Amino acid sequence: MICKNLTVDERGILLFAGQDTVSLLRTYGSPLYLMDEDLIRERCRTYREAMKEYFGQDALPLYASKAASFKEIYRIMKEEQMGIDVVSCGEIITAHEAGFPLEQAYFHSNNKTDADIAYAIEKGVGYFVVDNEDELYAIEDIAAKKNHSQKILLRLTPGIDTHTYEAVNTGKVDSKFGSAIETGQAEAITALALSLSHIDLRGFHCHVGSQVFDSDTFIRSSEIMMEFIGKIREKYGYTAKELDLGGGYGVRYLETDPELDIAANIAEVAKAVKSQAAALDLPMPAIRLEPGRSIVADSGMTLYTIGTIKKIPGYKNYISVDGGMSDNPRYALYGSEYTVVAPDRMKEECDFPCSLVGRCCESGDIIQENITLPASLKRGDPIAVLTTGAYNFSMASNYNRIPRLPIVMLKGGTHRLVVKRETIEDVMQNDL
Ligand SMILES: *Cc1c(COP(=O)(O)O)cnc(C)c1O
Repeated sequence: MICKNLTVDERGILLFAGQDTVSLLRTYGSPLYLMDEDLIRERCRTYREAMKEYFGQDALPLYASKAASFKEIYRIMKEEQMGIDVVSCGEIITAHEAGFPLEQAYFHSNNKTDADIAYAIEKGVGYFVVDNEDELYAIEDIAAKKNHSQKILLRLTPGIDTHTYEAVNTGKVDSKFGSAIETGQAEAITALALSLSHIDLRGFHCHVGSQVFDSDTFIRSSEIMMEFIGKIREKYGYTAKELDLGGGYGVRYLETDPELDIAANIAEVAKAVKSQAAALDLPMPAIRLEPGRSIVADSGMTLYTIGTIKKIPGYKNYISVDGGMSDNPRYALYGSEYTVVAPDRMKEECDFPCSLVGRCCESGDIIQENITLPASLKRGDPIAVLTTGAYNFSMASNYNRIPRLPIVMLKGGTHRLVVKRETIEDVMQNDL
């Protein structure tokens, strides 16, 4: 199986974190997201321990909370002593209400409104990751009015092409994110930040993409960033204290995807950063990484119920479930791959070729194309889509006025609801 928290019992039932998925579906209703808290915590510890071991005690992983943002996840992050990255007031207030200490939050986004900036300063968000000069001036103005000095990192684009899918490729010079090193804009915004009296420049940030499996990408970007830090020190006498290398660590969606050894990868990157620091005679900056997907993706699963099975002789077969692009838009957006199984018949042969589609009124409402499932499946049977813990709940919509799914958290053999199922009344609540 693609993740160690997936097993099959003697009846052929799929177990997730050791628990019977079919009976969880019966208990909580369909469709449903499951999350494995033990695995989420284990991933946090892997990052934290490896970063401290290889980068030093002042290193810290930040959970990129856009991957899955709800109160319980921030409570877990607080307990695991993770930092977080947030990208909106909605994420900030969710973390705050969950009791997360916002001084450990890093506020991203390429377009923070004046209201966002004022709100984040008031709430005591520790760091802003500043994307561009317009934003830097706005933060300076708002911080000045509040007589506040705001810690920031500057988001730079090191000019790396990760060869991953274009829409999730963010480190290139022409990206909508950050200031490019190559064009001189990175240096210009650094000089500007150093000149502003309510801005406390702590260092630099980059994020080069998603679903990255090799350490080369992180090594190359860290080298470019360290060279930049060296150049800035030479020219401006300013030495960066922090270097944030972003997120993007890959996860397994399919059996054929490689398995990433996070600790080994961090060790390799640390070796490169340390030798670069020594070569440039720079003090080792406090390193930040921002894993999102690799903290929560394979800690999540979606369970559905089959509605209709349509066979078009000579063409193709469709299995429709009671969810779709409204709870998982990733196939529609990126053609993302997922593993789909029939959780109540894991020992049966999969010889029925089909596409798994949703209930939305849209031909692109596909969860996965060209898969095989057991031929015995019929209306009312359960379907499980694996590795849906990242960018599913957080990207869900009410398209077709379909209410969003609940999240059930599994921990040490127990289960509990952490996000309620939305009702149609909830969906209509702002309609006048
Ligand atoms: C999305 C994002 C991340 C997390 O990326 P993953 O692929 O989920 O690890 C980290 N940092 C920034 C700035 C991001 O935009």
